[in-house]
Amino acid sequence: MSNRESTALTDRFGRVINYLRLSVTDRCDFRCIYCMAEEMTFVPRQQLLTLEEMAFLGRAFVELGVSRIRLTGGEPLVRRNLMSLVRDLGNLDGLDELLLTTNGSRLDEVADELVAAGVNRINISLDSVQPRRFAEITRTGELHRVLKGIAAAQRAGIERVKINSVIMRGHNDDEIMPLLEFALERGLDISFIEEMPLGETGRDERKGELVSSEEVRQRIGEYYPLTSSNDSSPGPSRYYRIAGSDSRIGFISPNSHNFCESCNRVRVTCEGRLLLCLGNEHSVDLREVIRTSPGDMGVLKAAITRAMDIKPERHHFYETDQPQVVRFMNATGG
Ligand code: SAM
Ligand code: SF4
Repeated sequence: MSNRESTALTDRFGRVINYLRLSVTDRCDFRCIYCMAEEMTFVPRQQLLTLEEMAFLGRAFVELGVSRIRLTGGEPLVRRNLMSLVRDLGNLDGLDELLLTTNGSRLDEVADELVAAGVNRINISLDSVQPRRFAEITRTGELHRVLKGIAAAQRAGIERVKINSVIMRGHNDDEIMPLLEFALERGLDISFIEEMPLGETGRDERKGELVSSEEVRQRIGEYYPLTSSNDSSPGPSRYYRIAGSDSRIGFISPNSHNFCESCNRVRVTCEGRLLLCLGNEHSVDLREVIRTSPGDMGVLKAAITRAMDIKPERHHFYETDQPQVVRFMNATGG
C-alpha cells in the first residue's frame, strides 16, 4: 500500500511539485568551465546532510507526492557510500523513478550496482568528443573514462541513457554535429543545454558565448530534418526526432524559452537547503528542521509544505549584466 498523502505539494501558482533534485555533494573531480571556478571552496563535511538524513528527506518528499528523485551534485558518484542512499531511496514505496546525473568518470565501476539498487535513468554530461577539447572544458577530465562510463550504463540495462551537452560559442559550437552523431550511432538520447549565468566561474564572456537552442536546432536542421515530438521527460527538455533513429534530441532553453510556467520541481542542496527556484535565492533550511526535531516526519513534512508558499513565479536569467545568482551550479544541484 502506498504511504503517499492525497494532498500533493502545490504552490501559489497552482503548479504541482512532483520532482525533487537532490544534490548529494558539491564536490567534483572535474572543474567544468561553465560550472565552477578553477579554485573552489567546498562545504565542510560536517555541514553536509548525512546519507541517512538525505534518505529521511527523500521519504518525506515521496510521502508528500513526489514521484521522481534525481541524484545530482557536484558529482554524485564522488560521495562516499552513496550506494546506501540509492538503496534506501530505491526501496521507497511511491517513488516511480530514481534518476542520476553524472559526469560519467566513475560510472564504469558502479553502473551495475546502481541499476540493482533501483536507478532507472542516467544522464551523462559530455561537451566534446575530442580528448584534448574535453580536457580543456572539464579542466581535469579524461574523455576515455567517460566513454567507458556511457558504455557501462548501456550495458547495465539503463533504457534511454541521455547525454547532456552545454554548447558555448568558441569552445565547442563546432561539435554540435559530432556530439549528435555520437548519440545517434549509440542509440543515446541527447539534450543540448543553454549555458546559465550561475556563479562567478572566471569566464567573463559567458553572455557573448551563449548559443541559443534555436541556433543549435537550425544547425542540426541543415543536416537532418527535425520533427517536433510529444516525448516528455521529468525535466524541461523539448524533444525532437530524426527519421530512422530512435534517439530523442532535446533542447533545454532556460534563457531563450522560459519554462517556469510548467515548473514541477524543487531542489535540495547537500547542506539541506530547499531551493524553490534554480534562478532565485528563496530557500528553507531543512537541515535545521531535521536536526532540531530528529526523526519527526510530521514536522519535516509541514516545513516542506509551507515552503511551497515562497516558490517564485519565474527566474530572470540574462536580464541584467550581473550573474543573477551567485550560487555555482555545483552548489545548486544541476
Ligand atoms: N556532475 C554531474 C554532471 O556534470 O552531470 C551532475 C551535476 S552538473 C551541475 C548537472 C548538469 O548541469 C550538467 O549536465 C552540466 O552540464 C549542467 N550545468 C552545469 N553548469 C551549468 C551552467 N552554468 N549552465 C547550464 N548547465 C550547466
Ligand atoms: Fe562537476 Fe558536473 Fe559541474 Fe562539471 S558540470 S564541474 S562534472 S558538477
